[in-house]
Parts: sequence; structure tokens; C-alpha cells
Amino acid sequence: MAAHFFDSLDEALRKKLEKLGLFSDFDLVLHLPLRYEDETRLSPISQAVPGSTVQVEGVVAEQEVLVRPRRQLVCRVDDDSGTLYLRFFNFYASQVTAWSPGTRLRVLGEVRAGFHGVEMVHPKCRVVRGSMVLANTLTPVYPGMAGLPQRTLARLIMQAFERLRAKRLLQETLPATILSACQFPAFEDSLSILHCPPAGVSITSLQQRSHPAWFRIKFDELLAQQLSMRCHYHQRRSQQAPVLQQQTGLQQALLEVLPFGLTDAQCKVVTEISKDLAQPYPMQRLLQGDVGSGKTIVAALAALQSIGNGYQVAVMAPTEILAEQHFRKLSDWLTPLGVGVGWLSGSQKKSLRNQELERTATGEAMLVIGTHALFREAVQFKCLGLVIIDEQHRFGVGQRLALRMKGGDEEVIPHQLMMSATPIPRTLSMSYFADLDVSVIDQLPPGRSPVVTRLIDSSRREEIVARIREACLAGRQAYWVCPLIEESEALQLKTAVETYETLSQTFPDLRIALIHGRLDSDEKSVIMAEFSQGEVQLLVATTVIEVGVDVPNASLMVIEHAERMGLSQLHQLRGRIGRGSATGVCVLMYQQPLSEVARKRLQIIFEHRDGFEIARQDLLLRGPGEFLGTRQSGVPLLRFANLEEDIDLLEMARNAAENMLRDHPLAAQCHMQRWLGRKEDYLRA
Ligand code: ADP
Ligand code: MG
Repeated sequence: MAAHFFDSLDEALRKKLEKLGLFSDFDLVLHLPLRYEDETRLSPISQAVPGSTVQVEGVVAEQEVLVRPRRQLVCRVDDDSGTLYLRFFNFYASQVTAWSPGTRLRVLGEVRAGFHGVEMVHPKCRVVRGSMVLANTLTPVYPGMAGLPQRTLARLIMQAFERLRAKRLLQETLPATILSACQFPAFEDSLSILHCPPAGVSITSLQQRSHPAWFRIKFDELLAQQLSMRCHYHQRRSQQAPVLQQQTGLQQALLEVLPFGLTDAQCKVVTEISKDLAQPYPMQRLLQGDVGSGKTIVAALAALQSIGNGYQVAVMAPTEILAEQHFRKLSDWLTPLGVGVGWLSGSQKKSLRNQELERTATGEAMLVIGTHALFREAVQFKCLGLVIIDEQHRFGVGQRLALRMKGGDEEVIPHQLMMSATPIPRTLSMSYFADLDVSVIDQLPPGRSPVVTRLIDSSRREEIVARIREACLAGRQAYWVCPLIEESEALQLKTAVETYETLSQTFPDLRIALIHGRLDSDEKSVIMAEFSQGEVQLLVATTVIEVGVDVPNASLMVIEHAERMGLSQLHQLRGRIGRGSATGVCVLMYQQPLSEVARKRLQIIFEHRDGFEIARQDLLLRGPGEFLGTRQSGVPLLRFANLEEDIDLLEMARNAAENMLRDHPLAAQCHMQRWLGRKEDYLRA
């Protein structure tokens, strides 16, 4: 076994390999070169052009150790065609001796223009004695670490490769039809090409990962991901869920009293969800829609389909403020229809909480709203049909998979609707969310005017303060968002309190309130209600208002230290305004000096309004790991494929996965085993 071999390595070496993430033979053969050196041929010195990397051979004609401007060893090497200078800033006395005049040297390095002609700094240098054959394959350069010579790494990799080959563990997993349709080289051949490319293979295509051998590896990786995700997707269909018939008078009744009609996009997703709910297996659908696109009404209609069929609905929100707001909005809509609405919050009084739990258990409350607390504790439902999770992106992929609700029959699993205002770029939803169905609301309700975004240096704070005051006195309402202080919640709170106090002193004529996460829910709801009703003109807030808060009349927002915030957070915050008829203005105050990334983020948020575009740029900026926050969730990230560049491969892998699961289940199993091994368990919901 592979473990055997690793055990036989000396401790220090094994530790180093582990640091590189190499624990098995398979890890070793998938440790692919970063770049290559071409030692398969010699170039005449006269053809060594600056910027290129070449191997040349010549005789040391002159050698000198300089002390100015820096101590260095310089060797002049001649061949029949020209002269090249070698420069070493770190060298040993033994090298000075070994490379003395008259010695024949084979050197490989990047050529640059020097003072006396072409030169190389710290080239790879070998003394030639007698005849020395040229390599017949390109020399791989692996991602490595100090104290682990490339030669050792290369040898270990080749040994692992041979062991796997001998055990027939590198055999083809793709069915012949797929292999020939995609025109990829075989798996084993691809690895062989990447580790030991034959002379003549384009180094550029290898290094840019556009060689067919690279495509094969990336495809296999994507295929493993797709297989595993789609496997779970199909497995879910063998589970049982309540069949919730589509036509219920409740939905119609709500639509009739609604002060607006649904947009086409809303109608489309309502239909998609409605069809899913009528199936006998559990829905797991992700509803995406930009901030303000109107997801709440869609959720309400889905809830009514469940309730109309006699099944309860749980609605879960990430923050108390948001849960509270959902509670109010959904109660307004549903109570008149005779639907009992329940409310569970972490901070409510014990007696009230028990009463709500009781109503949930008896089914008197058909819709129950709460924060995570609702799920963490054992809430007993009478008969749960649907779970709605708002602002899904905050929950992490892992948690999503872990969610299981108690309710009625243990065998019957409730449907799940997840809503996210952080648009997930298509490539991500095709890969990491391939086990879900996705609905997108790609249209905002009519009558929204775009928010004007201003970037302003914090040195102009006074000016902003004065403008906000004028606007508030003229009847507008504003949010003042206090800086995020990541290291310390206490410090963040302190800043918010101070900002509130200063602004209150500056504006004795304005009604100002402060809201933050530490207030209890009654206090929060009083403040939000006052702000909603226009009694409070300026709301000083921490980032608790980030998600979901909906006060259409508020049209101004100032965000302090915007440079500290992430793109999705800024987009969410800005989405709080521009919901009513007045043009929204969002002022992003930033403090110099800006880091490169912060500057880029501010530029993106300034230039783009579309949440999908912002998310796409965010993905480019941060990579999928950070974007998804999957670091903790256990979903393995892609190592080789790049979702931006390899979208074609992703499409191919997706089709191939469906095909294999249907027609070649054994091959599918082998492929997953090879790539995911034990990791596969993590994905199991
Ligand atoms: P989000 O998708 O961000 O959760 P909400 O559901 O909070 O958005 O909706 C934002 C606002 O738009 C709410 O005030 C809601 O009542 C309103 N709204 C939703 N759908 C429509 C529509 N079709 N026409 C007009 N207003 C709508
Ligand atoms: Mg919302």
C-alpha cells in the first residue's frame, strides 16, 4: 500500500511532503510541474536573445571576483558563435575553482542584456567532462520547498508513478465513447506527458495548461466533482417528501390583495418552485435574485402552497432584524388569509417562547419564522412540509448539507428553498452547486431608479455630514453605516456609539437613532419600526442592516471605511436604498492609503450595479475558496481546473457525468474513488 511506502520514508522527508499536501502515491503523481526547463537542446550563444530561457555550452574564457558594486563572481563563457557573461551574487569558493578558465560549462538560464553583452544571473551550471548526452525529455520544475531538492521530488514522483502503474491503478476510467468524443489522451499518458514531456512539446502550452494532457487532468477533476454532486442530486429522488398539490386558493387570495403584480421573472420562478413542491421527493432549490428583486413574495407563495396542503413551513433568517422583518411582512400578508404565523427568536422571553413552541407543535402556527436558533434547538413541528432559508450564502455550503428538520414522519423529508441575494456566478453554480436546482430572478420590479454611487475620501467627512443633514431636513431618510472592525466586535460597537453621539450633538434638530447587533430584539424592532414610519430620519447602524432590511423611503446611505468591506457586503448595503421613488445616493467613504485589493474593490462597486457582474469580479479577485467560504465546509476545492478559463471543460464534464451515471455507473464509481477517495463522504448530505 501507499501508506507503507510513506512510512518507510525518513521522518524529515515525510514531514516535508506532508507540508506540500502529499500523503499518498496518488497525491505524488498529481503533484504537477509548475514549469519546465528545456535541456534537450543547445543553442548557439549568438542566438540567445534577452528574455528567452536557453541552454548553451561553452568554455570559460575569463573569470573574476568583483567587489563593487556588490561582491560577485563573473565568468565569461565563449562558444564558436559568441560570448555570454554569467553573474553569481552568492557563490562558494569551490565554485570559483570548479569554473576556472578552460572549463567547459553547460548553462541554462534566462538571458538578459548586460553591460558587456548578453548575460545570465545565477544560471543552472554543469561542468562538461567528456561527452554528456542531452536530456530527451523536458525537465519538470515542481512546486517545492526549501530543503527538498527538485531531483528528490522528481524521483519520488516517478517511483510513485511506477508503483501505481504496476498495480494497474492508473487505468482508464472514462468509457470509450466519452474518451473518443472528447479526444483527450488517456489518463496515464497525460500524467506521463506532464511529468516527462518528450522533446519538442510546446513548453508554452504546458505552462499555460492548454496542452491536451492538461485538459484531460482538469476534465477528470471536474468530472469527479460533477459525478459526486449529481449522484447526490439523483439519490435525493429516491427520498420521500410530501406531495404539495399546486392549486391552492390561498396563493390566489394573496395575489389579489397584493398592491403590485409579479414581474415576469418572479412568475417564472414561482412556477418552477411550485412544480417541485408537487413532486414526491424533496426539492432543494436555490433561489437567486439580486438585492431588491422581490424574493420574499416568492417565498410567501411557496409557503402558501405548503400550507394549503396542510403542511407547515419554517422560515429561517440569518439575523434577528431580518427574521423580525420577515415576521412582520409575512404576518401582514398571511394573517388576513387565516394562516397562523409563529415567531421564535433567541432573545424572546421564556414564556412567550414556550407558547410559540406549543403553537408550532400543535400546528396552530402554520408558518414559523426564526433565526438559526429555530434550527439549533429541537423544535417540534406537527407536520413540516417546507423549509425556507433566507440569505443562504451566509450559511456555508457545509451547513446547508447538514440541515435536517424534525417534523412529523421521520421518513418524509421536507422540501427546501434557499434564497440568496449574493448572486452566484454561473460557473460556480454549475460546479459547487450542481447538486441543487437553481432559479434566478433576473429582473428588478419596475420603477426602481439606479443608485448613484460616490467615492469620497474621508478627509471630506464634514462636507458629507452637512449634506446629509440638509437632505434629512428636506424630508429624506438616511443610513449611516459605521465601519466594520473585524478584530473586535466590542470596538465596532464603541465606534458606532461614538458616531451616534457625535452626530446627535452635531444635529440637535434631527431625529437620529442607533441600531446594532447587541440590542435586544424588542429594542431593535422598535427602532426599525420608527425608521420605517419616518419618525427617525437618520439611522446610525453597524453592518447588521446588511441583509434584507427593507425601508423603501430611505434613499441615502453613507458607508464609513468602505475600503474594509467585501464586495458582496457593499453590494448588499447599497441594495438597502433606491427601493422607493427618490433617487438613491450611496456615499462610500474611504481612507487612504488604499491597498491594491481595496482599490480594486471600490472600483468594481463604483462601476457596476448588477449583482451578478459584481459577484463575477469578486470571484476573479478572490478565487472560489474565499468566495464560497468553503474553507470550513469540507467541500473539496478544485486544484487544477479554473472555472473562468475552463468553462468549456466544465460543460463537457457536466454532460459526461450525466451520461456516466446513467449508462456506466461502475466507471462513474471508479472515477469518483480515484479522485475523491474518502473525501467523498463530506459531500454526502
Ligand atoms: P429581496 O429580493 O432583496 O429580498 P424583497 O423581497 O425584500 O427583496 O423586495 C423588495 C421590495 O420590493 C419590497 O418592498 C417588496 O414588497 C417590493 N416588491 C417585490 N416584488 C415587487 C413587484 N413585482 N413589483 C413591485 N414591488 C415589488
Ligand atoms: Mg430578502
